[in-house]
Amino acid sequence: MNKKLVIITGASSGFGEALAKEFSKSGYPLLLVAGRLDKMLRLNLPNTLCKKVDVTNREEFENAVREAESIYGKADLIINNAGIMLLGDFAIQDPEEWKRMLDVNVIGVMHGIQLVMTDMKERQSGTIINISSMAGVMPFGDHAAYCASKYGVRGLTQTARMELSPYNVRVITVEPGAVSTELLGHTSNSTIKDNYNRWRETVGAINITADDFVRTIKFVYELPQSVLIREFIISDTKQDV
Ligand code: NDP
Repeated sequence: MNKKLVIITGASSGFGEALAKEFSKSGYPLLLVAGRLDKMLRLNLPNTLCKKVDVTNREEFENAVREAESIYGKADLIINNAGIMLLGDFAIQDPEEWKRMLDVNVIGVMHGIQLVMTDMKERQSGTIINISSMAGVMPFGDHAAYCASKYGVRGLTQTARMELSPYNVRVITVEPGAVSTELLGHTSNSTIKDNYNRWRETVGAINITADDFVRTIKFVYELPQSVLIREFIISDTKQDV
């Protein structure tokens, strides 16, 4: 049976790039979206449309989804993975950083869901996977706005699940712990970055990789449509919070 279209947002680095390689290896046609088109094109994956898309821009995002669907058929899976982490001291962080983070991490995910949900409902099939974080389950220092965004993803996913379950559409939240990617690089406050890296040293070597993480996502997706792992936390064994 031919594999169906998989959409991955934030595919130019980290989890998204690893997801793209893993799903491509198994023969899925892909739509990859992110800001850095060159990085996605360099992956050189077969049956893959790469588009420069800002997920906060609904029109741009929708055009990419419709173009991919006209080539590969309707999307069976979207992984709303694109996100930024701008850690900050609540008392002094620029509110523009809060707004940017909420826009990308929450509204970007909502755009992704809205762009596929009507078709999935009609077909009574499909899967939506939203990447939240352990910071969407528990608080961390200097994470106020990031936590707000990731608790938000968890909340909106639970609502989407209630609305889509009657239509046999699976909606899943994933809450990863710390994994080395480019994510910390977005934070502008160097003291907070140093503290984060010191915390990681106290935890010990964090050996879990983006590849470990993506294998679990593929496993969850490839279960029968009637089986729903609603959410899961995945972290390095040594991460003690
Ligand atoms: P990276 O920084 O490596 O990747 C983030 C991806 O998101 C990049 O491809 C980036 O592409 C894309 N992106 C950012 N803003 C936008 C935008 N407006 N429109 C489209 N794409 C965008 O980080 P990770 O791989 O670690 O993060 C992936 C997800 O996992 C995020 O949602 C993050 O919050 C979450 N997460 C990560 C954890 C970790 O420890 N690594 C832990 C818990 C959750 P580009 O810059 O090219 O636009």
